[in-house]
Amino acid sequence: MADVTLKHIYKVYDGSVRAVNDFNLEIKDKEFIVFVGPSGCGKSTTLRMIAGLEEITAGQLYIDGELMNEVEPKNRDIAMVFQSYALYPHMTVYDNMAFGLKLRHTPKEEIERRVKAAAEILEISELLTRKPKALSGGQRQRVALGRTIVRNPKVFLLDEPLSNLDAKLRVAMRSEITKLHDKLQTTFIYVTHDQTEAMTMGNRIVVMKDGFIQQADTPIALFEDPCNLFVATFLGSPQMNIIEATLFEEKGVLKAKLNDLDDMVIAFTDVKAKQLANKKYIGQKVLLGIRPEHIIPNQGNLSADVEVVEHLGDETILYAKIANMKEQIIIKLPFNNTFSAHTTISMEFNMDRVYLFDKETHKSIMGIPHENEIPVVINGNKLAMGEQVIELPEVFVSHLLDSAFDSPVNLAIKPEYVQEESAPNALSINAKIEFLEQKTDYQAVYFSLKGIDGYFAMKVRNDEKVKLGKEVTLYLPVSRLYVYNQEHTKLNSREVVYPNKVNAEIKTVNDVMHISFDGVKLSYPATSKLEDGQYEIVLKQDKLAPIFPRKMLKKGLENPEMENPHNKIKVSAYDEDILGKKLLTYLAVPGIEKYASFVLDNNFSVYKLPKFNLYVPFEAIEIKQK
Ligand code: ADP
Repeated sequence: MADVTLKHIYKVYDGSVRAVNDFNLEIKDKEFIVFVGPSGCGKSTTLRMIAGLEEITAGQLYIDGELMNEVEPKNRDIAMVFQSYALYPHMTVYDNMAFGLKLRHTPKEEIERRVKAAAEILEISELLTRKPKALSGGQRQRVALGRTIVRNPKVFLLDEPLSNLDAKLRVAMRSEITKLHDKLQTTFIYVTHDQTEAMTMGNRIVVMKDGFIQQADTPIALFEDPCNLFVATFLGSPQMNIIEATLFEEKGVLKAKLNDLDDMVIAFTDVKAKQLANKKYIGQKVLLGIRPEHIIPNQGNLSADVEVVEHLGDETILYAKIANMKEQIIIKLPFNNTFSAHTTISMEFNMDRVYLFDKETHKSIMGIPHENEIPVVINGNKLAMGEQVIELPEVFVSHLLDSAFDSPVNLAIKPEYVQEESAPNALSINAKIEFLEQKTDYQAVYFSLKGIDGYFAMKVRNDEKVKLGKEVTLYLPVSRLYVYNQEHTKLNSREVVYPNKVNAEIKTVNDVMHISFDGVKLSYPATSKLEDGQYEIVLKQDKLAPIFPRKMLKKGLENPEMENPHNKIKVSAYDEDILGKKLLTYLAVPGIEKYASFVLDNNFSVYKLPKFNLYVPFEAIEIKQK
């Protein structure tokens, strides 16, 4: 058994490089998980944190339910295979494989048994007496794998293990590693920047970019339903065609005009049209995506000029152009030698496989949403969702920022986390099944919620019977819920949010109000006559601003405009939480018992500046009666 769970994992290097942000993933025993993404997206860092080679800045790592953050790498029962396999050149293959076990004082007979068993699995039994220089690249890589297999680790971590091999060998080793996973029946976590490796090897793929998980799912599900333009164009070869289009409705049918051309119009099927995320897109420009294999030539009402034809033996690729469009359209079809360059062809899109993306956010706006977002209003421990009012568990409310209350926000949950069975600490909502769409790996079920525009989606197994029109209760586990404001800033915190309350003394002298607590002295022009004495003061969550030391100001950081630069509090940071464009900081503040939480701009990190002054303008202070 080896489940690996990453909860809100963050890595900040040198106090400023945010290599990994809010990484959440549950890896099941025996899964083959692939982390994929362009160079620098945080794949290796995540892997190294699992291995224990890199400290975890924030969040929790569990292996088989046990917290691993502080556990030494050698005690994690994990083996890591690197890009450079670094075999000892003076030792035989046998000794290379046995070395780690010898260091652990494993009995000789046991070593021999394990090395021979591993050699058999890897089909290198006849190479055991050779030295590394007498091996091919592929054989060396197998020995490197063998060195880790002999230790019977619970989890295998592989960091671009094939990138030093030539193209042909890489393809061969790909299936070798997949076979190895089948034989060993252990958890594999594999890092690569190569989308083909990811698609062919993983049970599940985690697509990363700029330190954030973009999407994690089976290869097919990622291919069928990419959550955004990045995932859509990263997976698949040749990559998805992207065309600017304008959506419009004609006689109740949703249509798209390609590239502003009146004669290039496509019509969506009814079931697809219903999946448009928001009616606001009708009449607007969007990005339309169609994969090269989903364009059907020689039929339909669209036309394109073929510029180049590539016959690849088993398939034919056409590079064509739609009038006045800059980019080429790529069409992929089974081998067909009837096409030639410099001709005009007709074509049609497979309308079940057309994608739409928001022009600004690049998020997918048609099909099963990556995250359901429902407009709600939270008031105390009550949540209003259309016509439903739902009681919120304390554990949910205690993690909400002040700005989550009393104004319109969006409650978000991924379709795969919506449950049909009740669970502790889950919100229960009533929904009606409206329609469904069959996918390769699951069924996408779309629900309506009373009083809410649009649909709410969940994924259910392919063999589950779904009854259209049925009213059901769905459960949303609070640990999976996010709350966003209209700018998509996250409004729920990783840690409990305590009120930023202090007991202060207020004294007015010569029209100046002096507030003092625990060594802090703040003064403001007196606005109303307040009796001198003890008051409770709340420091508002989002009205304070950091004062940066002079040497940091050169890096594009600015200090707030300060009416009275003496109105400041010296704070020291425990931690931070990225909320999108904002940063939530957990700070030790004089006069506050546990910690205070302030929302600041995310243009700095408390890991770079663990102690600083916060400027306290008058509007940041709320004076409560005694
Ligand atoms: P990937 O494996 O996806 O190529 P990495 O995890 O190696 O990405 O790197 C993620 C980010 O962290 C990059 O911006 C990289 O420059 C930075 N980084 C990696 N290692 C270090 C380090 N030891 N010190 C500082 N920054 C680092």
